[in-house]
Amino acid sequence: MISLEDAQSRIDADIGELPDVEVPLAESLGLVLRQSVVADEAVPPFSNTAMDGYAIRAADSVGASPESPRSLPVVAVLAAGAMAPRPLEAGEAMQIMTGAPMPDGADSVIMVELTRSGARSSGDGTAVVELLAEVPVGNHVRPPGDDIAAGTVVFGPGTVITPGHIGVMASVGLDRVRVRRRARVGVFSTGDELADGSGPLRPGQIRDSNRPTLLALVRQAGAEPVDLGRLPDDEAVIADALRAAAGERSGEAVDVLLTSGGVSMGEFDFVKRVLMELGELNWMQVSIKPAKPLAFGTLLGTPIFGLPGNPVSSAVSFELFARPAIRSMMGLPPQRPHVWAIADEPLRRTPDGKIHFLRVVVEPEPDGSWRVRSAGGQGSHQLSALATANGLAILPDGDGVESGRRVRVMVLD
Ligand code: AMP
Ligand code: MG
Repeated sequence: MISLEDAQSRIDADIGELPDVEVPLAESLGLVLRQSVVADEAVPPFSNTAMDGYAIRAADSVGASPESPRSLPVVAVLAAGAMAPRPLEAGEAMQIMTGAPMPDGADSVIMVELTRSGARSSGDGTAVVELLAEVPVGNHVRPPGDDIAAGTVVFGPGTVITPGHIGVMASVGLDRVRVRRRARVGVFSTGDELADGSGPLRPGQIRDSNRPTLLALVRQAGAEPVDLGRLPDDEAVIADALRAAAGERSGEAVDVLLTSGGVSMGEFDFVKRVLMELGELNWMQVSIKPAKPLAFGTLLGTPIFGLPGNPVSSAVSFELFARPAIRSMMGLPPQRPHVWAIADEPLRRTPDGKIHFLRVVVEPEPDGSWRVRSAGGQGSHQLSALATANGLAILPDGDGVESGRRVRVMVLD
């Protein structure tokens, strides 16, 4: 048996970095930026109003109040997207909608709530607005570059792209962006007992839950999952399928391959055997529970993780080994956040020389501390507690943790 750290560093040694590519902005979410983003344009590009109201000269509102309103003729109506037909003169108002360019000659906006409209001038009958308050120069006016000045370097290489970054890049007119490529991760299930879909089960069959789980975990890790289907417990078929997926023959090249099942000590655990024969593979017994067996290595240059078949084991093995590797290929922070939490109940285990990972529910307290309790049945086949869990408590070798004591928890969401 090897330690968790040893297993993780063997994997690290074989994991490279994906190349940079240029992608449409809409496909860049969660990827690592590999360029500087410079604003060629100011945002906003022109002076505009932050409110629906009236563009005026602030001097024309001096002394205005509900008791003594100031009346101004409304000489234009300005919609967002349109320029004023002419400059505003002293003693005039232009009705203006949020986002519309400020007319030349105006220096302030009075919001519609501080005005009264409906009146007409006694002379030529033009509409008149009554100002009910005094407003300062610059009121509700957004000057050009108020958000981003032209020429600003808005983000640099290494930024992990969020929806906010996408918004800023769109606002400065960028529609393609240079990033570290998203990893494509192929997922196989193995096992003659597995059935897909919703049909009736034949005696001895179970439904394939690992593949949907792993595909979802891959997506959650920020990579692109590729469903490669299910393989029978047949050495030749497995060998062919793995070679095709790892090499060029697949058509859909993947950067990483995941399999589940067939890596333990059973008579029909062919994945382990095939990987040892075909590739540069290590089969490891890692001193952890669940997820002790792991096959890892490269086949035709593609890293392969032969994850265990038990549903909880395959998910935990993904968390501990595959997820950090996939994320470091993409240049993303590999580790989930960890917190120290106070056990709400005893989290028991028996000494066996291994680190145990318990499915737990971890919750923040108002004072910033964390509390943790078991999420339910801890068998490596008991997937239901994994659905309830939002953390994995890390129990070092020993008897576990008493109620009220601290335990380290990897936070999963
Ligand atoms: P194995 O490592 O192939 O011997 O599988 C260990 C256990 O996990 C067995 O009980 C399998 O039936 C189960 N198992 C393997 N693959 C899957 C899967 N894709 N979905 C659900 N259970 C699985
Ligand atoms: Mg099997």
